[in-house]
Amino acid sequence: MNTPTRRDPAHVYDVAVIGGGVVGAAIARDLSGHDLSVALVEARDDVGDGTSKANTAILHTGFDATPGTLESRLVQRGYALLSAYARDTGIPVEHTGAVLVAWTTEELQALPGLKDKAERNGYHQCRLIDADEVHRLVPALADGALGGLTVPDESIICTWTTTLALATDAHQRGTQVLLGHAVTGVAVGPHHTTLTTTRGTVHARWVVNAAGLGADTVDRLFGHDRFTVTPRRGELFVFDKLARPLANKIVLPVPTSRGKGVLISPTVYGNVMLGPTSQDLTDRAATDTSQDGFDFLLAKGERLMPRLLTEEVTATYAGLRAAIDHGDYLIEPTPDQRYLLVGGIRSTGLTAGMAIAEHVTQLLRTAGLTLNPRADLPPPPRMPNIGESTPRPYQDHQRITEDPAYGQVVCFCERVTAGEIRDACHAPLPARNLEGLRRRTRAMNGRCQGFFCGAAVTQLLHAHGNRGGTADPEENR
Ligand SMILES: Cc1cc2nc3c(=O)[nH]c(=O)nc-3n(C[C@H](O)[C@H](O)[C@H](O)COP(=O)(O)OP(=O)(O)OC[C@H]3O[C@@H](n4cnc5c(N)ncnc54)[C@H](O)[C@@H]3O)c2cc1C
Repeated sequence: MNTPTRRDPAHVYDVAVIGGGVVGAAIARDLSGHDLSVALVEARDDVGDGTSKANTAILHTGFDATPGTLESRLVQRGYALLSAYARDTGIPVEHTGAVLVAWTTEELQALPGLKDKAERNGYHQCRLIDADEVHRLVPALADGALGGLTVPDESIICTWTTTLALATDAHQRGTQVLLGHAVTGVAVGPHHTTLTTTRGTVHARWVVNAAGLGADTVDRLFGHDRFTVTPRRGELFVFDKLARPLANKIVLPVPTSRGKGVLISPTVYGNVMLGPTSQDLTDRAATDTSQDGFDFLLAKGERLMPRLLTEEVTATYAGLRAAIDHGDYLIEPTPDQRYLLVGGIRSTGLTAGMAIAEHVTQLLRTAGLTLNPRADLPPPPRMPNIGESTPRPYQDHQRITEDPAYGQVVCFCERVTAGEIRDACHAPLPARNLEGLRRRTRAMNGRCQGFFCGAAVTQLLHAHGNRGGTADPEENR
């Protein structure tokens, strides 16, 4: 492995991975487990700042995938890989299980078929249950459920920590993380490809395109015209922590051809979520929420769990799925260009990311990239815990005794301490702005949304983090 410690514009990487979302980070991590120099080329000023930061954060079993598809295989494999990786790195996960609820006769009749589909996907744990059992499992549910299907292994996970763990791991394995580098041009040469970016050129023998919503645009820069991304917006409500006892399980609707539908889910931060909507747009930056989305979710909430709507909504947000005109993931190598496309990772990429990476590595090997596993890999990073199911720093007496900053709560709603903010500002991939800090610590994510703690958090960020450097961690060493 011969990745330079500082960015050398003339260096030719063995592989450049475009896109620092969960998928690109997982691919860079997997590749840098081999004797290769790898660059992760991300347009934004942080990893995990695209679709990977705004989803429903469910670790899917893949029970409802279309059997026989690549997506079905990789979601199932990704569930196992990410569950194990979460244990190794401390990514917050809760194995809450899910209940899929039928509200109409038609939906009730669909349940045996869904169980059969789960089994064709290799998942044999689903159980058909009657209306009484549905209401016993989720007592706060509205009256009128006709029956259900249990999915005991559906789980909730922290999407922010997942991408950060994978990208940090890649970084510690030697991947050069190039933030603020939007790829705008591609020149495929006989020995290497030159990527023109908004911060200079990047040369690489092989290029992997994991650019999410931008994957079709990058694909066209390589001269292809094989698919179009349609941003499919999903809006969500986040309810206050007082709502959590209402939903200790994920409550799923019967899926339709448009997708998985609107669910109610606990979060690893102790909240409850309602959403997402599903609306095709043209604007790939339209992550704002809408009146129509609000009205739709209020009506759904009223139908599913009216008691939830008596609790306060602390935040709303929207994410964009990279929907494509193709029924499966579109993962295709073009060996004569030393190029591989990872497209259409629409609504299951958080779960499948590590399996997609494994698959990509295998495809690159077949396409001609020499891959020798390294014997000198550093251990995976141990990530700061921002989940509620295990003790947080403010609850850890021993830790506070050793370092009083962990006893100094700055964000009271989310119980985030000065020690955690300091750590996030000095992490291998540090927080460089308030949004980055939110994803690393939960600061300002609570009831007050930063109204009370915003000034103190900003002051700490400036004191520790905003050192006037660039967005590129390599250049700030
Ligand atoms: C509402 C919603 C709910 C979801 N729920 C779940 C769920 O419960 N479970 C689950 O498993 N999945 C879920 N998903 C899907 C999951 O979030 C995505 O599949 C996953 O985040 C996609 O990751 P990615 O890395 O492909 O894309 P992204 O996270 O978008 O990363 C792509 C990156 O590429 C960068 N980029 C783009 N163009 C360029 C360029 N030209 N140069 C450099 N960089 C570029 C972008 O800035 C971005 O950071 C959901 C998605 C949505 C929207």
